[in-house]
Order: sequence, then structure tokens, then C-alpha cells
Amino acid sequence: MLMPNDTRQHEKAMAMYVILVATYGERQLKPPRREPMVELIMTILSQRTTHANEALAFKQMWEHYGSWEAIRDADTAELTALIAPSNYAEAKAPHIKATLAQIIRERGEANIDFLEDLPVEEGLRWLLSLPGVGVKTASLVLLFNFSKRIMPVDTHVHRVSLRTGLLAPRTSAEKAHIHLLEMLPSDPHVLYNFHVSCLRHGQKICTWSAPKCPDCPIKHLCDYYRTVYEAE
Ligand code: SF4
Repeated sequence: MLMPNDTRQHEKAMAMYVILVATYGERQLKPPRREPMVELIMTILSQRTTHANEALAFKQMWEHYGSWEAIRDADTAELTALIAPSNYAEAKAPHIKATLAQIIRERGEANIDFLEDLPVEEGLRWLLSLPGVGVKTASLVLLFNFSKRIMPVDTHVHRVSLRTGLLAPRTSAEKAHIHLLEMLPSDPHVLYNFHVSCLRHGQKICTWSAPKCPDCPIKHLCDYYRTVYEAE
């Protein structure tokens, strides 16, 4: 929980939110981009992979097998080859098979729409019990598909939040999910737009290797900028 003297972190988070949304545009959370099952499996394929390669891996897999049951029963080496555009395909193929097997065994079909009616903590626990599903993947599915109050933290959100000082140095991505959620309003629309605009900022301005700090619209809020530029 945030302590009273952490109010400034809440104010900083909201100041960043307002500027980043004004810079990159406000988006509507609904309707979901994809079916929840597709979102779940594509999010596994997206780990450490470009969007184009994630889409190609899914397309090749789906065109070959045509059903979740066929993917569950697929030969692991063959599935690995089909999803090879996705990085770490040799680890992801058995995870996808095992995840589908668990969902079909527990639910009687490859369908996770029931998460809509579960409290967010319960849905998160259930998703984390699936092989190959971590907190980032689970959070993305719960927010993007079911508009749950949860904060997905990918590499861009994590980097921007650390550099600005929104998160304490060395805060892990797992803990960042909790801390950022505490700082932001409990509104899925705000959480979604914070996630998307931080992601865009991390891709375009606050890049990993060479952040374009002089061009940054939130530099006046940023600890990294203060340390590197204002100390000169
Ligand atoms: S000032 Fe630099 S480090 Fe800070 S958020 Fe902007 S680009 Fe990132």
C-alpha cells in the first residue's frame, strides 16, 4: 500500500499520464482486439519477439493445425518449427501445448471467457497456474480482454517508470505491477492508457540504448534527466 508521504508519487504518475496521453493519444479499451484465447497464446508468442514475428508465428501455427485441440496434440518439434519466428520457440512450444491441455482439462473446452466473471485476483491466480504464463502475460489478458483493474508492465513501461523515478531503483518488473497499480486510479481506462502511452514512449523517445531526453515531454518530471543533464 502507498503511505501518505507517497502522495507525490501518485501526483507524478498522474502528471506523466496526462502528458503522455496528450502526446501519444487516448485510446478506448473496448472492444477487445482479439478473442481471449487468441490473446493468451499470442501474448506467450510475443515474449521477447517483435509484433510482426509474433503474428507470423501464430499464423503459421493456426493455418497448419486449425484448432486448439490439434495444437495441444501437436508433435512438439513440428510445433516448434512452425512458431520459430517467435524467439525461444523451443521453450514456448511445450508451454503452449501444456497450457492448452490444462485449460481443456479444467474447463472442458479451450475457452477462458469465464475470467470475465472472476474477481481480478482470482483470475490472476488462475492464469499464473498455466505453464509459461507470467504476471505480464496474465495482466495483459485481464486488462485488454476483460477490462480488469490491473497494470501490465512490459519492458518499456518498466524502463520509463524506473528512469523517471516513479519506481525505486532496481524495482523488479513483478513488483512494478503492484506499485504502479497503487499509484494510479483504479480505472481500467486509465491503466490501459498509462500502459499504452508508456510503451509508445519507451519505443520512440525513452529507448533502451539512447533515450532522446532533450526531446522528452516529461523530462521535467524525470530523475534520470535531472541526474544526467541538470548536473552538467
Ligand atoms: S527524460 Fe530521458 S530518461 Fe527521462 S523519461 Fe524522458 S527520455 Fe526517458
